[in-house]
Amino acid sequence: MHKVQRNKGPLKLLEKDKEWKDSFKLNPNLKPNWEEFSKTVVKRETIDMLEQMYKGCCCYCESKIKSTSYPEIEHFKPKSKYKKLCFEYNNLHYSCKRCNISKGSYYNEDMISPSDKNPEDYIKYIGEVAVSRENNKCGTIMIDLLKLNERSDLKEERIKYLSEFSKNYELLISAIEMVLNNKDSSDINIVKPFIINFIENVKLKSKHGESYCTMIKHNFLDKIDILMEVLEEVE
Ligand SMILES: [Zn+2]
Repeated sequence: MHKVQRNKGPLKLLEKDKEWKDSFKLNPNLKPNWEEFSKTVVKRETIDMLEQMYKGCCCYCESKIKSTSYPEIEHFKPKSKYKKLCFEYNNLHYSCKRCNISKGSYYNEDMISPSDKNPEDYIKYIGEVAVSRENNKCGTIMIDLLKLNERSDLKEERIKYLSEFSKNYELLISAIEMVLNNKDSSDINIVKPFIINFIENVKLKSKHGESYCTMIKHNFLDKIDILMEVLEEVE
């Protein structure tokens, strides 16, 4: 999970939200008709805006939601308990089905909304594993509730993705060591393009909108500092 900048919801949703809140104020026993809303074009527009905000990745597990699997609108504060917030854009996120099901209608104050708090202050990735920083309760609750370390498909995807980067990094380090041991600094010019390429790739894949970008960032951003130092030394 990582922090996102919230965009503006569709105008028609904002109107729907206002209309609903006015009715709810008059009669707090009313129930929001989400099913009916789901059939409207406004829902489609809302998903599109959320997709843009999250650049197609799930707000929680950071998997790219493929065009074959239908993305879901996640109510951070569940619509069953917080009826008033059912159509409030600030309460809506873009999520994969698995995360949406895992979170269900659970909510407490310690939970992390990616558009309000910075999840990286609470959760870090060591390898493919999501870890709560200093065992803080906000991170722990999100990791446990969303089953971030328990879903075998997600775990496999992460390992596969991470291992490509790890393999390339190890090869680079071996090549650098070999060059340095040969004490022939001209050899570094052969390795240099690979170092630059690796650095650029890590920077690119750590960006918002890339699958598992936080995992890549936490595992490799410090490593590219080492590679930058190597480049500076040989220049
Ligand atoms: Zn997800």
